[in-house]
Amino acid sequence: MSKEAERNPANAAGDWYIDTNCIDCAAAREVAPGLIIRRGGKSVFGRQPATREEEHMAWRAALLCPTASVGRTRGGKPPSDLFPQEIAPGVFRCGYNALSSFGAHSYFVARKEGNLLVDSPRYVNHLVEAFEKAGGIADVLLTHRDDVADADRYANHFSARVWIHEYDADAAPYATNILKGTAATEIDAELSAVPVPGHTKGSVIYLLSRTYLFTGDTLAWDPERKSLTAFRQACWYSWSELKRSLARLEVPFEWLLPGHGHSHHLHAQDMREHLRALVGAM
Ligand code: SF4
Repeated sequence: MSKEAERNPANAAGDWYIDTNCIDCAAAREVAPGLIIRRGGKSVFGRQPATREEEHMAWRAALLCPTASVGRTRGGKPPSDLFPQEIAPGVFRCGYNALSSFGAHSYFVARKEGNLLVDSPRYVNHLVEAFEKAGGIADVLLTHRDDVADADRYANHFSARVWIHEYDADAAPYATNILKGTAATEIDAELSAVPVPGHTKGSVIYLLSRTYLFTGDTLAWDPERKSLTAFRQACWYSWSELKRSLARLEVPFEWLLPGHGHSHHLHAQDMREHLRALVGAM
């Protein structure tokens, strides 16, 4: 529950607010762009919702916030269909971001070859029921050690396989499939795992249908610079290794779907040019 007594005074006046327990994970700003902004090193409402869709954006922020910092003075209940949120055909943002993953986004993919969970949200009944309705989860794809959250509980409930790289595998001792080395592994005809050591030694990017790239904390979109970005201040293993990993990342993709930071959609050729520019700048 958000604490009104701890309302950040930097919020715009009005019903919706964010309290000072915000850890600045940026997740709320991704689901409520233009409404929730960064001010003084934390997220706040830059203005109050003015439309029904903006009210939904605020509710999404409230549902996903890992510190339950997003609140509404007059209370109320969110609509029941805000998460999972379809953000690309068959690809859903789970919401319910976990504090143990510092508020990282996770994704659910519905597909005939078997549904996927990429990293993990908090374990909540609402999502379990939604995943059950969509046919369950065949594979849990973990991008790295930081974002495993409640993956064990989802894997257990759905009898799913769990993928992680050997260098981060101690964070998920229940994993069933261990990735090794730096060569890509084909999980099935549509899905591959590409090790990208850098953020952590065992970081992995997952490519689906040569279109969707799930990047964990390796790569994100910077909406201010309108470019791809990597997190030098949050690079736990090796920045130079991360640069080498991104330099050899010759995979086509149109959708960038990160754990932290912003997602983005561009033509594959434009993504390729942005990636080359980023590697050059690193
Ligand atoms: S999701 Fe919560 S903790 Fe993360 S930036 Fe938004 S308000 Fe802060």
